Amino acid sequence: MKRSTGQDRSITQKWRSATRAVRGGSWRSEQGETSEAIYLTSGYSYDDAETPAARFAGQAPGMTYSRTQNPSVQMLEERIALMEGAEACRAQASGMAAMSSAMLCQLSAGDHMVVARAAFGPTRWVTDNLLPRFAIACTAVDGRDLDAWADAIRPNTKLFFFETPANPTMDIIDIRAVSDLAHRHGITVVVDNAFATSALQRPLEHGADVVAYAATKMMDGQGRVLAGAVCGTADFINTKLLPFQRNTGNTLSPFNAWVVLKGLETLELRAHAQAANALTVAAFLEGRVPHLLHPGLPSHPQHALVQAQMKAAGSVFSFTVDGGRKAAMAVLNALELIDISNNIGDTKSLMTHPASTTHSSLTPETRAEMGVTEGLLRISVGLEDPLDLIDDLGQALSQAGLGSR
Ligand SMILES: *Cc1c(COP(=O)(O)O)cnc(C)c1O
Repeated sequence: MKRSTGQDRSITQKWRSATRAVRGGSWRSEQGETSEAIYLTSGYSYDDAETPAARFAGQAPGMTYSRTQNPSVQMLEERIALMEGAEACRAQASGMAAMSSAMLCQLSAGDHMVVARAAFGPTRWVTDNLLPRFAIACTAVDGRDLDAWADAIRPNTKLFFFETPANPTMDIIDIRAVSDLAHRHGITVVVDNAFATSALQRPLEHGADVVAYAATKMMDGQGRVLAGAVCGTADFINTKLLPFQRNTGNTLSPFNAWVVLKGLETLELRAHAQAANALTVAAFLEGRVPHLLHPGLPSHPQHALVQAQMKAAGSVFSFTVDGGRKAAMAVLNALELIDISNNIGDTKSLMTHPASTTHSSLTPETRAEMGVTEGLLRISVGLEDPLDLIDDLGQALSQAGLGSR
């Protein structure tokens, strides 16, 4: 049987990123399977009573229970860590399990954190509603404004949290500048990298400490499973995240881990192709809609920053229509090809009205502050022919009486 080298860092570190995506983390059973196996098992058995004793004591390697370790999950964790350039990674049950764990595993009562206000709706629910119940204070700032981050720092500030590009307004945050500021004050920086993924942006290379993922999105890439991941130093993962996770149970199913593992093999191809399609579609909308929020267009105010920290601007962007919620819903209802769906990162193009879906749990004030207006629509561009997407958007805008500005 040919040995699988995917878990051997002395070998995988030498691989370039496309090779890491296809083979990183692989772990073969004695059958020598070429496609990674799905280990659907909750427990493990041992040849003698001393073995589990040694494993529980941390004196011998090996699995003990799938809340803590599972071969399929471990393959995914090692592959994501390699692709991210991180020392370690732990898979999580969903993207929100990753975001909430990345915060809760390192914050205590009396601490303070700062969040960029444009963020995934449930992330803001955690920072605005859940953390205060445990006496953890949070200040929301305009993440694009470095002075706002600096002004929000208190003596007890422990964490900066932001996503870039941010959902759904596509704000871009300067990872290097915000991380340098944080580190001058001993603050840890967590970046939600779900929109870009390691294929387009590696936050650790720009100074971030922890990268958290909704693997549900581009990493699976085909809209099949919920999954998440947190990456960081081995010390952070082993001393902060792992004790929290193994005792609270945010564990990913081995089946879902396997689906994402296979998705990663095509991540780079998909991310670049979908980003290119998104640019083509956005170029069609430019001039036809009042506001186009696409960081890949030279007209975007943060275009230079996008070029400095991203390989491409990604597959999701937003735009507004005149006429508020009624007009936005009329456009969605007129679509013939693009699905009405609040998911993103699928090979199928999807569109949603954030104010009534992904960001509906927020107060109207928070939505207004984030720029989530009633006329805002978000599109996640897939792998269809972009000309068919343009045809669909064109006919939907005209059926809604819009788009001939
Ligand atoms: C979807 C998403 C999440 C949450 O992921 P789930 O898997 O749905 O829990 C978090 N952050 C961002 C940016 C997302 O797009």
